[in-house]
Amino acid sequence: MNHEKSTTHLHPHDTESSKHSRRVTIILAVILCLLIAGLSVLIVNKEERKVREQTTTQSTQFKDVAFDSTVEWNDEYRLHVMYPITNQGQLDKTARASIDEYVQSFREAVATKPKGSKPYELNMLGSVNYASKTAINFMYTGTWLIDGHKSNLAVNMLFDRTNGKEIRTSDLFKDSAYLQTASDTARKELPGILGSLNYNKTLVENGTTPTTAHFDQFEIIDNKSINLVFEPGQVANVSQGVIKVPVPLDSLNSDLNDAVVGEIFPAYVAQVEAAAKAQAEAAAAAKKAAEEAKAKKSPSASLPANGNTDCTKAKCIALTFDDGPGPGTASILDTLKANNVHGTFMVVGSRVAAGTSLVQREHAEGHDIGNHTWDHGDLTNMSIADAQSEVDRTNQAVANAVGKRPYFVRPPYGAYNASVLSAIGMPFILWDVDPDDWKDRDADIVYQRVMAGAKPGAIILSHDLYPTTAAAYQRIVPDLIKQGYTLVTISDLLDISPSNAPARTFSHQP
Ligand code: ZN
Repeated sequence: MNHEKSTTHLHPHDTESSKHSRRVTIILAVILCLLIAGLSVLIVNKEERKVREQTTTQSTQFKDVAFDSTVEWNDEYRLHVMYPITNQGQLDKTARASIDEYVQSFREAVATKPKGSKPYELNMLGSVNYASKTAINFMYTGTWLIDGHKSNLAVNMLFDRTNGKEIRTSDLFKDSAYLQTASDTARKELPGILGSLNYNKTLVENGTTPTTAHFDQFEIIDNKSINLVFEPGQVANVSQGVIKVPVPLDSLNSDLNDAVVGEIFPAYVAQVEAAAKAQAEAAAAAKKAAEEAKAKKSPSASLPANGNTDCTKAKCIALTFDDGPGPGTASILDTLKANNVHGTFMVVGSRVAAGTSLVQREHAEGHDIGNHTWDHGDLTNMSIADAQSEVDRTNQAVANAVGKRPYFVRPPYGAYNASVLSAIGMPFILWDVDPDDWKDRDADIVYQRVMAGAKPGAIILSHDLYPTTAAAYQRIVPDLIKQGYTLVTISDLLDISPSNAPARTFSHQP
């Protein structure tokens, strides 16, 4: 019918014109194909550049204070920022705005990043070192990696919780006379703090002239003292990081603004006392546990103590917990202890000071402690000197807490290369089973994934930050034992020790 219709209306030029329209059709089809191909390339490219994002809530040692932890990453950049959440909305807003100034500068840098260059990175990791009803102190440490240059960040934020306003160092004092006292104190103390190797008189004098900008950061350390906090590079070489100078409040007495100080410190006294009590209790519990473990070491003890398992014969498996000490650590320690087994904690150096009693308990109860770097940066995304410093500082922090240095590393993100490995010179412990417990905060899912992945010789990765992970391990540990597994430390599984610690990677050993 159609055909008939078209033939009846043929014009003399129709043959020529139908040839022409066929040619047009072919050209159109080719253009269409090219368009589709082009579009799909675009879509694939877009897929590769797609930003992945994850926001989670992290609790702190203070009940009414938490952090929203946001991680964003794609091929171009990695951004990890923690925003405080308190019961004071205005405070949260102000804090977020200060932090977002860094984020904004970072995004601007990313926008002009040359294509194909190494990913840019901003980590702003928060912790609370003091919280009372009237005041709260946030410490931010972080790293900033742009265009191959790395710098360290140290931001201290003290807030009045009654009105949400930020308290600056200058608020602590009646007038600017404190600047001279602070400058004198810093100049007197810094030679001893830095040591003869790192003390540079010119640098110190330039960084401590009595100006507000030089003394705008401080932190509370106890009910009698504050720390003056100096940015990396301010009073010593950048590689020395943040430098702190303790100053007794007594020495500033005549300069202090009694109203502000009175508001902050009385509450702090109670908090310090409570923290000291908690630490004493944790130490007593650790001592008791060590005594119990000693008592249990009778000839009939069913499970071998750490260091005594021959994993060529036993059906071994190693549980490893990263990123702590954190909110899940105590519960996981309880579970391991209740089942009389051992695991490995890969600690982040910058968290060790705030969680010293937990790290001490890990050590006292016979678990291995591994090095998960100072602030969780990608070791392949920084200079070799910085990578070494990440590991060294963490080793030192652990040694300060428990008297022993870790001798193996878990590289953040599992990222490593040959030059990093050889420069660090320690075993890099990877993993075989990753239940994605940071992504899926669901004890059942974590349980199922770990049990499904378990096999003799395997290294299991998890994070002692999350209560859901801790809950999952309350079932995982006894169930693995039921399946005949011996739960051992990394040293036992891989047969490594401080004197046998080759610089290579380890994962599943067949
Ligand atoms: Zn980690």
